[in-house]
Amino acid sequence: MHPLRTLILAAAGNDAIRRLVATAPVSRDVVRRFVAGERTADAVRVTREIAASGRWVTLDHLGEDVADEAQADQNVRAYTELLDALHAEGLTARAEVSVKLTAVGQKLDERLALDNASRVCAAAEQCGTTVTLDMEDHTTTESTLRVLRELRRTWPSTGAVLQSYLRRTLADCEALAGSRVRLVKGAYAEPEPVAFDGREVDLNYVRCVNALLSGDGYPMFATHDPRLVRIVAERARWYDRRPGTYEYQMLFGVRQDEQRRLAREGETVRVYVPYGSQWYGYLMRRLAERPANTTFFARALVSHS
Ligand SMILES: Cc1cc2nc3c(=O)[nH]c(=O)nc-3n(C[C@H](O)[C@H](O)[C@H](O)COP(=O)(O)OP(=O)(O)OC[C@H]3O[C@@H](n4cnc5c(N)ncnc54)[C@H](O)[C@@H]3O)c2cc1C
Repeated sequence: MHPLRTLILAAAGNDAIRRLVATAPVSRDVVRRFVAGERTADAVRVTREIAASGRWVTLDHLGEDVADEAQADQNVRAYTELLDALHAEGLTARAEVSVKLTAVGQKLDERLALDNASRVCAAAEQCGTTVTLDMEDHTTTESTLRVLRELRRTWPSTGAVLQSYLRRTLADCEALAGSRVRLVKGAYAEPEPVAFDGREVDLNYVRCVNALLSGDGYPMFATHDPRLVRIVAERARWYDRRPGTYEYQMLFGVRQDEQRRLAREGETVRVYVPYGSQWYGYLMRRLAERPANTTFFARALVSHS
């Protein structure tokens, strides 16, 4: 892993740094690039704009790692309020939601997370859409897949996320290839025994692309990597997959021209749109992915503080 990436992800857990970054005025500008806004109305507005451009959306209400049941409940309510607002605007055909289980209580009690995620899935179904369970660090993988299996008994279209940096993931892709699966490289700092590094992550991504495309599920390829986007397109043709039987996903604020290009070519492109006030952890992971952004951000932070 790039040393700067390791450093940023470690800093993300440091309270003093968290306070400095969260209160620095410059943070607001950087946040605006990657986060739709703090309120439900901001999320709906951005969804409307993206839908109007022929792309799809998955919305993430920011707020991972809750410390108590009340916070977990608040996050569930934020999702149900969002789903109602999207439904009222006729946007649920274009938008689903992404849920982090730690935002609904996974670290407190897996059963609580399952019950809370079920409330979001039920609300999504009533509004005519669905849920994808984001994947967090490797200590949560087994629990997240257990909760996923339970949710799919009632809501079979619930999406999974698998991370190509984990050594276990090819086997998970093979097991889940008949269902809705988002494939990502992975965004957390993981130890060597469980995770690949560097080129191996990309090679494993390609192995997983093949495993998912050869199944009869609905793969969602989430990457900004131009080389991987080209490989997905080539493999999709090889497996005789028509556009609409799989999709590309990219983050809000990242490679928008590429998102539009793919959409113009008739591909399904879904934009991951985070919103809410708890943007710190999300922002740190985005900065860790792009050391160039971090240098710019760190300079601005020091000169403003
Ligand atoms: C829709 C979506 C959902 C995600 N969900 C999860 C999740 O649930 N769990 C999880 O762990 N991770 C998730 N991620 C994050 C993911 O794991 C990666 O950390 C992130 O996507 C960066 O990896 P990458 O594949 O884009 O390629 P990288 O290895 O970061 O970049 C490869 C190349 O892509 C191009 N590129 C990348 N970023 C930019 C940029 N900002 N501007 C211009 N070019 C760029 C550059 O050419 C770069 O060299 C998600 C990502 C997306 C897009």
